[in-house]
Amino acid sequence: MTSSLATVSYIAATILFILSLGGLANPETARRGNLFGMIGMALAVLATVLGPRVTPAGIPWIVGALAVGGAIGLIAAKKVQMTQMPELVALMHSLVGLAACLVGFASYVDTSTVFPTPAEKAIHEVEIYIGILIGAVTFSGSLIAFGKLSGKIGGKPLLLPGRHLLNLAGLLIVIWFGREFLHAHDIQTGMLPLIVMTVIALLFGVHMVMAIGGADMPVVVSMLNSYSGWAAAATGFMLSNDLLIVVGALVGSSGAILSYIMCRAMNRNFISVIAGGFGGGAPVAKGDGAASEPQGEVSPILAAETAELLRESKNVVIVPGYGMAVAQAQHTVYEITKLLREKGINVRFGIHPVAGRMPGHMNVLLAEAKVPYDIVLEMDEINDDFPNTDVTMVIGANDIVNPAAQEDPTSPIAGMPVLEVWKAKTSIVMKRSMASGYAGVDNPLFYKENNRMLFGDAKKMLDEVLAALRA
Ligand code: NDP
Repeated sequence: MTSSLATVSYIAATILFILSLGGLANPETARRGNLFGMIGMALAVLATVLGPRVTPAGIPWIVGALAVGGAIGLIAAKKVQMTQMPELVALMHSLVGLAACLVGFASYVDTSTVFPTPAEKAIHEVEIYIGILIGAVTFSGSLIAFGKLSGKIGGKPLLLPGRHLLNLAGLLIVIWFGREFLHAHDIQTGMLPLIVMTVIALLFGVHMVMAIGGADMPVVVSMLNSYSGWAAAATGFMLSNDLLIVVGALVGSSGAILSYIMCRAMNRNFISVIAGGFGGGAPVAKGDGAASEPQGEVSPILAAETAELLRESKNVVIVPGYGMAVAQAQHTVYEITKLLREKGINVRFGIHPVAGRMPGHMNVLLAEAKVPYDIVLEMDEINDDFPNTDVTMVIGANDIVNPAAQEDPTSPIAGMPVLEVWKAKTSIVMKRSMASGYAGVDNPLFYKENNRMLFGDAKKMLDEVLAALRA
């Protein structure tokens, strides 16, 4: 493939990636968006492998790596449960970071490129230094995020004494060694500052994510998404690959926008997040999903009674959360919705921006179950309607419907906007026990007078409700 054909293919791939991002912004066009992304990526890989910069001797290596990587990806995608998706995404971000580090070291020891001027050599070395820095932070940060999301590492924030000072010291050391690196006369002398910086960046990534409390994890997930984009862009600079720079910048900036949206959803300050002060202002979360002290009496309800209440309603709002994903109850939810709508009952869904364990988690599940998009509303669109709602069904959600966010200024989730389900005539919470949600805080909703608890696995309980509705 000639270099101009490769460039044209890169431009076509770039356009496809932009169309893909545009498509993913709306559930109705998301499939098409995905397709554009897949075609764009296939084109990008083909243009790179067949392009002028790959020698024939390199092709078997690339094909071998593609086969191994593709097989692992295929098996992982087939095996992974929907509830494990956030962990898988975190793991993939870590691989982007690792790739940036490896490419950085390889570019540094590669002596085949001759730089016409010292300035160009210096620019290349700055690219390597910054690329490895971002890559190492992304790599270790994403691994810790993987641990936290999969429950292998506890949700409690690790707040080291003087942690901001530690971070500042790390930054100063990185800048100092950056200077040493740029002044190094040969690869051997430059390697030491590069390795020291990599170790500090790895430790910083660990420290940054370990310091995050459970409730702030969504911001971290989207931040690491953004970092992985910048790591890819840095790799593009090191390899002088325009497509990688453009795609990295697209991922980096869309991740940054997502972080901003998540910050707004959590009522956290974007600037303080960018500066690394995640959750700094929030009180420490009590635990990691373990039950906290019960604060009153709850009123249990049976599936048959739930069906009766639903049958008598005019307006029903369903609020799904992480538990719906765990129970894989979305298809039964859809069956119930269909049945109620056939009876002339107005059924809508209220989706919190951080419901579940990844951005858009609930929308994906509901779309999979074929719930019509026009009855799936965002928190801001539905919150004012709860006083006119007869029954709110909370399915495996907890933190996102916790009134403590509004009522208790000392709560770790204080200030986070929540779905005001308790304003409905009756709210029914479906969950297995009194255990707290991801943020580890007790939920006063459970003890409200107009709230009922339908205890049990969400799928099992909804199957019973469906059977009672059909009876
Ligand atoms: P929560 O984690 O607050 O609560 C989920 C509830 O589901 C639990 O209390 C659990 O209670 C219940 N549950 C679990 N399994 C089942 C089951 N099989 N059947 C019925 N219920 C079940 O989830 P929310 O969606 O309300 O809130 C999301 C939380 O996750 C927020 O704190 C958010 O910050 C955090 N987060 C979100 C991310 C995102 O990007 N969306 C990323 C990372 C974290 P029980 O055990 O009693 O059944």
